[in-house]
Amino acid sequence: MATITIAQASCADDYDPDSMPVAKARAFIFQFLEPVRSTLRLPIRSALGRVLAEDVVSPVDVPSHRNSAMDGWAVRSADLDAAAQTTLAEIGASFAGRPYGGRVGAGQCVRIMTGGVVPEGADTVVMQERAKANATSITFAPGQKPGQNVREAGEDLARGSIALARGRRIRPAELGLIASLGIGEVSVYRPLRVAFFSTGDELKSVGTTLGEGEIYDSNRYTLHGMLTRLGCEVLDMGVVRDDPALLERAFREAAANADVVITSGGVSVGEADFVKPMLAKLGEVVFWKIAMKPGRPLAYGKIGGAHFFGLPGNPVSVMATFYQFVRDALLILMGAHPVEPVPTFKAVCTAHLKKAPGRTEFQRGILTPAADGSWTVRPTGEQGSGILKSMSDANCFIILGDATGNVAAGATVDVQLLEGVV
Ligand code: AMP
Ligand code: MG
Repeated sequence: MATITIAQASCADDYDPDSMPVAKARAFIFQFLEPVRSTLRLPIRSALGRVLAEDVVSPVDVPSHRNSAMDGWAVRSADLDAAAQTTLAEIGASFAGRPYGGRVGAGQCVRIMTGGVVPEGADTVVMQERAKANATSITFAPGQKPGQNVREAGEDLARGSIALARGRRIRPAELGLIASLGIGEVSVYRPLRVAFFSTGDELKSVGTTLGEGEIYDSNRYTLHGMLTRLGCEVLDMGVVRDDPALLERAFREAAANADVVITSGGVSVGEADFVKPMLAKLGEVVFWKIAMKPGRPLAYGKIGGAHFFGLPGNPVSVMATFYQFVRDALLILMGAHPVEPVPTFKAVCTAHLKKAPGRTEFQRGILTPAADGSWTVRPTGEQGSGILKSMSDANCFIILGDATGNVAAGATVDVQLLEGVV
């Protein structure tokens, strides 16, 4: 691994010489990420959410036979009159799974259902809405195109071709696709183990009573949710007090047992004072002031073989930094390639937004469909980084770039979806 040094990580942007732009911090982190190597074979259902460790090569043609895309009649295009009705004798039927078996000769047609094998001799299917059944013959409307409504064997996927490439995350569509090839097991990368704990003397776990000045720890719950949805194996190490000896023990244990260590709290300027020298002893960690809101303080580094993300303490900052830095980093480590970008697009903002230039803001927004089919967005209300309700009410981030100032109602803004991100 390359050596991370504070000097490398320090940076200047146009606004605050001490703060690190989001994109630069992402790029810095990503250069140190080596995907896991070990693999396991799983029955396909159990592979949902995992990442393919080898290409899935199709052992068959898909579809396996030339078949009909419609309910109708299989005909020879040479028999059809382009300009006038044509009547052909019906000689049999081909249903999905029950082929006709014979040959269609001149002047003949075969009743066919969607998925039915197109019989020999026939090259075209006329949909039933364009035909009229008589006692023993069928009359077809003019204007049929040769070859229409026929799906060729191997048209979707030829035998021997790559159906799914290594690095693809397995979603429901991939499960079905793999099954459609008759494959029952796939090779996937082993899951990533992620250990996490919250830091802070003020934190209590749910189920206990709060003393004066204490609050319930919520970050471990949002982290549990985000990590679980990403398909990581989680190791919840609870709350660790702001005590150097206890923190050191927790970091050592976490790094020894996981691929990735995530903490919340303790990385802001005042609090990092005793965390910094302790982590310097255990590994290589850089502490940044990121030019973003929420989520200004952030630490990244390696402790032994484990990657370390020191997220801020504020609950919204934890989620914002997770989405902007940790999500993609974990996917890279999981072997996902390419990492699917989070859907980001433009929408008209219906409210005025307060914003200071010099940092990227991730305001919480609610996207709503407008009557004309376009989408508009409005902020959730108070944007404090401790207001977790703003994340819960939101379905997107409104991303306001470094240079942006206040936004007038009616202006177009960038929005990034939250659903489906993890
Ligand atoms: P810190 O970054 O440790 O200074 O924390 C910043 C703010 O986030 C403080 O108000 C903390 O009380 C709060 N905070 C830190 N950790 C948590 C947590 N796990 N759950 C809820 N709030 C937290
Ligand atoms: Mg703290």
